Amino acid sequence: MTTPDAAPPAFPMFVSVEEARTLLRQLLPERQTETVALASAFGRTLAADLVAKVSHPSATESALDGIACREADTLRASREQPVRLRLIGESRAGLAFAGTVGPGEAVRIYTGAPLPQGADAICPVEQLQDDGDGILLLRPASPSDVRQEGGDFTAGETVLHAGARLTPARVALAAALGHAEVPTLKPLRVAVMSTGDEVIEPGQPLGAGQVYNSNAYGLLGLLREAGCEAALLPAAPDSPEALEEALAGIGGADVLLTSGGVSMGKYDFVRDLLIQEGQVSFWKVRMRPGGPAMLGGWKGLPVFGLPGNPVSSLVVFQVIVRPALTGQPLSSLRLRAGTPFRGLADKTAFWRAEVRGSQVFDYGKQGSGVLRSLSDAGALVVMPEGGAAAVGDEVDVVLLD
Ligand code: AMP
Ligand code: MG
Repeated sequence: MTTPDAAPPAFPMFVSVEEARTLLRQLLPERQTETVALASAFGRTLAADLVAKVSHPSATESALDGIACREADTLRASREQPVRLRLIGESRAGLAFAGTVGPGEAVRIYTGAPLPQGADAICPVEQLQDDGDGILLLRPASPSDVRQEGGDFTAGETVLHAGARLTPARVALAAALGHAEVPTLKPLRVAVMSTGDEVIEPGQPLGAGQVYNSNAYGLLGLLREAGCEAALLPAAPDSPEALEEALAGIGGADVLLTSGGVSMGKYDFVRDLLIQEGQVSFWKVRMRPGGPAMLGGWKGLPVFGLPGNPVSSLVVFQVIVRPALTGQPLSSLRLRAGTPFRGLADKTAFWRAEVRGSQVFDYGKQGSGVLRSLSDAGALVVMPEGGAAAVGDEVDVVLLD
């Protein structure tokens, strides 16, 4: 058993949030690349730039259903004095009109259909009236309803860049660029293990002094959101032997996330195992909640020890682990404080807060065991060491949803 206040430790203690992220990044394995079909690409990170194989639109086309004609013929069209044009054919998506639109002529056209030769404007169907072999325009045709070839992107253009997260919009864009498969970073395989004699799985009756394992489920979801392959391990009891046995059974993970067992208590054996039998990269982060977090390695496996308190474990994941795993910076926005936010002299504070309109309000219950606060609050206000905000001041806000 380590007595934390004995000899000075041989590893960094009380690191900053930024240092903690950097140290975790350094322990992670080099990412391999893997080319996957578009249908499997969502949530991954692009490993190389993507160049457009085609232009979009691939031809100049109509943005609306209506008629294509020459704008100059229609400038005086109005509801009172419609302009009549002669219909000479139609252009539909996938089947262009072969001829040329001359003065006084129009071609029926549909959304996405190629603009015929000679035409330069569209009048929408809502502004048209049939008139035998002609058509009446109730307002002028407009060139702004013509989509120019390559107006979105042109063939050969680099449109998506290596490192981009493949959101649904970017997967759709990759498809439009003409890529059936995309080079991606292979997802990190992350094992999740809760620790604690009192931790049991939901679904069983709760005995005296027990608590349902909530951390593992929150972490699992966060890992999936972060594009990782996550595996849930059975919770380990508070005994050095049991912990060692559980760790020895982990195969095929790039990193292990534990929760619990890294604080100052007698039964915090994750801490002891890493200090005595593994390596420690840091212990304790200058943050609240989440101060007890620990990073180390055990027989070549990077181990990030999250605190057991539910709010702490999830906040440490959001602000340290996720940015390190994804390589994406923690994204935040600036909003005005609707309530005061205090700072802590020597810690970065992450206060649970609610965004309403353009303002952010203190959630109130800031205890690290108040699990519903994370669910209700939806945001964290980041208060730097020694900072403070009065009502009306701008603060950094991390959105959780
Ligand atoms: P520890 O960090 O192990 O001292 O745990 C701190 C607090 O978090 C204790 O109240 C634990 O019961 C609680 N806790 C630990 N692990 C979990 C878990 N997986 N789910 C919910 N609460 C937990
Ligand atoms: Mg514990």
